[in-house]
Amino acid sequence: MIITKQKDFDELLGMMDGQDSVFIVGCGECATICRTGGEKEVAEMSSKLTEKGKTVTGTAVINAPCLELDTRRVLRQNKVAVDKTEAILVLACGAGVQAVAEAVNCSVYPGCDSLFLGNVFRHQHFYEKCSTCGECVIGNYGGICPVTRCSKSLLNGPCGGSIKGMCEVDNKKECVWISIYDRMKKSNTIDRLSKVLPAKRHSAGTIPGRVINGA
Ligand code: SF4
Ligand code: SF4
Repeated sequence: MIITKQKDFDELLGMMDGQDSVFIVGCGECATICRTGGEKEVAEMSSKLTEKGKTVTGTAVINAPCLELDTRRVLRQNKVAVDKTEAILVLACGAGVQAVAEAVNCSVYPGCDSLFLGNVFRHQHFYEKCSTCGECVIGNYGGICPVTRCSKSLLNGPCGGSIKGMCEVDNKKECVWISIYDRMKKSNTIDRLSKVLPAKRHSAGTIPGRVINGA
C-alpha cells in the first residue's frame, strides 16, 4: 500500500488561498489505513476548513481514487457539488490526486504527502521493503531486498560499518545484510552469497512506468 502523511494544515490553507469553496475527496483504501484520508479524517478536515471560513460543497470517500474510472463515476455522482466548487482537496496519495485532477476542470490540491510503498507490520507501523525498481533481484538474497533495505543499496555484501547489528547510516534500523545472511543460512543457500553479482540494471525502473495488457 502507499503510505501517506497529511500535509500541514497551514500549508493546505496557503495552497487554497483565494479559493473559498472546496470539495474534499478521501480514499477508502491506503489513506484510510494510514489515517490520513478515511471517513474520519475527511470529516475532520471539513470541520477545520469550515472554521477557517471555507465553504465545503461536499465530500466523498472513494474506494480507491487511483482506479480512475471509479473516481470519474463518483465525481459524476457528486456533479452538483463538484460543479460549484473552486477547488478539490484530495486526501490520498499522488496517484489519487492525479486521477481526480484529470476528471475535473477546477483546481485540485494534494492533502497528503506520498511517502513510500509500505508493508503494514501492525497498526500504524509501516515499513518500506520494496522500492519498485523494475527488475526484482531478491531471489539472490533469500527473498530480502538490499536495494531498498540497505541504506547504500549494496548488492554484494555489507559495507562493514554496521555497529552492533545496526546500520551505520541510520542506527535505528537493523543492517539488512545480517538478515540476509541469517535467512540464507537457514535455507542452506549461503554459498550463493560468494558469487559476485553485476551492477543493477537501473534502466528497468525508469519513470513513468506503464504496463498495458501485461507488456
Ligand atoms: S529488488 Fe526491486 S522489485 Fe524486488 S523487492 Fe527490491 S526494490 Fe522491489
Ligand atoms: S550498515 Fe548494513 S544496511 Fe547500513 S549501509 Fe552498511 S550494509 Fe547497508
